[in-house]
Parts: sequence; structure tokens; C-alpha cells
Amino acid sequence: MAKLINGKEISAKVKAEVYGETIKLKEQGITVGLAVIIVGNDAASRVYVNSKKKACEEVGFNSYEYALDENVTQQELLDLVDVLNNDDKVNGILVQLPLPNHIDENTIINSISPDKDVDAFHPFNVGKIMIGDFAFLPCTPSGVMELIDSTGVDISGKSAVVVGRSNIVGKPMSMLLLHKNATVTICHSRTINLAEICKTADIIVAAVGRANFITDSMVKEGAIVIDVGMNRLENGKLCGDVDFETVSKKAGYITPVPGGVGPMTIAMLMKNTLTAAKLGSNE
Ligand code: NDP
Repeated sequence: MAKLINGKEISAKVKAEVYGETIKLKEQGITVGLAVIIVGNDAASRVYVNSKKKACEEVGFNSYEYALDENVTQQELLDLVDVLNNDDKVNGILVQLPLPNHIDENTIINSISPDKDVDAFHPFNVGKIMIGDFAFLPCTPSGVMELIDSTGVDISGKSAVVVGRSNIVGKPMSMLLLHKNATVTICHSRTINLAEICKTADIIVAAVGRANFITDSMVKEGAIVIDVGMNRLENGKLCGDVDFETVSKKAGYITPVPGGVGPMTIAMLMKNTLTAAKLGSNE
């Protein structure tokens, strides 16, 4: 039976460390601030934004929410980002995705100052990640690395399979594993023999967006299985990309959904915002 990797516990430790450092900064007269922009009334986005605001309270940050009407123009949104880029109270800027269709997400992401890009989605930060010289790491992949580290397993030389190649999860995930000397294979919807490839993996990171996609027949005995997926079932329950029931009997380590990667993503966002504040205060 796999050992459970407890994302709730590990994220609480990360947030406690961030809180400790936030207090030290406060003693120097620096209060950390995160601005969160949400556009429209998407229910899932609202849940995420509320969780981020709550985490800010827990770690002692100020959070500034900008809830914009779904008909806001792209220029109005760009103008707001520009104001926040120049606001010293704001160390990190996060635009909750997805945005309505009439707004180009890349244009908005590119308008955020790379120094305040705590999601690490700006091409400048993406490039820095590629060459291994970074200030911010994207929150979900860096949270996954913390979860893998918590097992104590040395991943150097191990075979890692990342299922999914999105800019937000799959691609940066594979880069972080590569930086830690794993031998990385990236799978996607066109991959042939996906099950066989997964079966060779010492580490599987599933970021597909399909409920119970990874089954026990695709997993090597004793593998570390990290489930990034968050899929809402018809009965309203949250479900990962991994068939937890069967895979947990075969894997060495496994993350649950909920309580695995999700809380880590928010904890790493707090860590990035703290980093932004520290870098800003050194200017
Ligand atoms: P995307 O939809 O952007 O990417 C999904 C990836 O899965 C694509 O690369 C796609 O391949 C691949 N894929 C889809 N179907 C298959 C298939 N049948 N076989 C192999 N690969 C397939 O999703 P995200 O990366 O944004 O998110 C993935 C999941 O993680 C979602 O459930 C999302 O909700 C969750 N998530 C969770 C977070 C957390 O904090 N826990 C944070 C971010 C995301 P192709 O490129 O060929 O289309």
C-alpha cells in the first residue's frame, strides 16, 4: 500500500515558514502585498481567489482584490495592471485565469512586471526557468517538487514521466524535474503507447484533466505518483487524474485529491510573493 503524501501538512509547513519571514520583514517596516484580479463570475475562479486571500491572511500579507465586470475591456485591464506594476504596496500581481474570450491572456500576462509575476507565467520568467536561473518558479510544479522531496527519495537519474504539456503545469514541471537530474519523458494526447511509457516511470506526474485517467496497469510497483488533476464529477465531488483506489495499492507514494497538490500551489504562491517582496526591498 502506498504511503500518502500529505499536501495539507506540507503546505502548512511552507506557509509557517513564509509567516516567520513575513514577521521579520514587518520588523523592518515592510508589509508584503499581493494583488489578485478576477474578471467575471466564474464559480471555480471565485473559489481559487478566496483561497488565495485566505492564505494571504494566514501568512500575514495584505491582499488587494480587484473584481472586474466580465465586460471589462482589455485596455481597462491593462491600465489596472499598469497601476499595480507601479504601486509599491503591491509585491505580487496575479490575474486569475481563465479570462473572458474578448481578452487575450498572453497580452495580459506579458503586461505584468516580471518582478511582480508571482505565477511565473511571463515569458521572461519562463525563459529564466528554462536556463535554471530563476527568482520565481511556477506554483503548481514547484509545489509538486516539494511533495516529491518530502518522500526523501533521491530523484537524480530516476525516470520521470509527466503526462500533460500545458504551459502552466506540464512543460515547467518537466523542466524542474530535469534540473534535478531526472530523465524526463513528456506525454500528451498524441503520445503512442502512453500506458507502456508510464509503466517505466519511477515518478509519474499526471496533469491531464481527465478523471481517473491513470490506472494501476499503467504504474510500476513502488512508483511515486503525483496527481495534479482537479476534475469535478457530476455528483459534485472533486476527483484527480489518478484512479486512487487501485493505484494506491501499487505505488510507493501517492498524493490524494483533494489535499495533495492543490494546497501546495497556494503555499508556493505565498512563497513567491515573499520572494518578490524581498527582491523589491533590496533594490
Ligand atoms: P490543459 O488542459 O492545459 O492540459 C492538459 C494536457 O493533458 C494537455 O497537454 C493534453 O495534451 C494532455 N491530455 C489530454 N488528454 C490526454 C490523453 N488522452 N492522453 C494524454 N494526454 C492527454 O490542463 P492543465 O495543465 O492546465 O491542467 C491539468 C489538470 O491539472 C486539470 O485537471 C487542472 O484542473 C489541474 N490543475 C490543478 C492545479 C492544482 O493546483 N492542483 C493547478 C493547475 C491545474 P495535448 O497538449 O496534446 O492537448
